[in-house]
Amino acid sequence: MKRKHSIIVLLSLLILLAGCTQKVNIPEKINIPEKVNVPEGFVYVDRVVPSIQYDIRYNSENNFAGTRIDGYKASTPILTSEAAQALKAVSEELDSQGYYLKIFDGYRPQKAVDHFIRWAKDVNDTKMKAQYYPNVNKEDLFRLGYIAKKSGHTRGSTVDLTLTYKETGTELDMGSSYDLLDNISAHGTTLIGAEQAANRELLKKAMERHGFRSYAKEWWHYTLINEPYPNQYFNFDVE
Ligand SMILES: [Zn+2]
Repeated sequence: MKRKHSIIVLLSLLILLAGCTQKVNIPEKINIPEKVNVPEGFVYVDRVVPSIQYDIRYNSENNFAGTRIDGYKASTPILTSEAAQALKAVSEELDSQGYYLKIFDGYRPQKAVDHFIRWAKDVNDTKMKAQYYPNVNKEDLFRLGYIAKKSGHTRGSTVDLTLTYKETGTELDMGSSYDLLDNISAHGTTLIGAEQAANRELLKKAMERHGFRSYAKEWWHYTLINEPYPNQYFNFDVE
């Protein structure tokens, strides 16, 4: 009788254990909606670089215009397949050193750039000046190269990004925040400290090793040198 009891206990334990094992081994079904609203040649970056972090400011009011930008309907970065693959290589290299990539913008439709131009010409609208361009007159944004009629982003192989610490998720201190249209955001500026300069350099070197070129005025802006559409400007929505 006692032995039979032990067997039952043992069996129950085994069933319980099996239950636990089953729970661990079968991945939970995550309900990610299929997102396929991109043309041939473009991809959602999170499908290629699963660890990618992002904060698509132009799909919010937290940007230099202070309003959601035309053509942004979702907070998801899109890039050409080639740019996303190159970014994957960057991500893998930095992942092993304890960092994730965080994207602020990737592909940007022409209608968004047109929105920037409209905004830049309205010199009376200075709602976001203190946060995004405190030392620049709005009428000088074109001349200084911060706003242009065409953007590399519209060709799909340009990305704005920073690094975060894997452990905490916080951004590395780059000496100036994303889209601060100011001298302090330029590579080689003497306005930042050694650690901040080293952080920018960490990102820059990794991006350059995998085929991207930097932009002198903005530490966050990179373009794939061998971009697949060097002369094409797209206009589909980010959705
Ligand atoms: Zn950019």
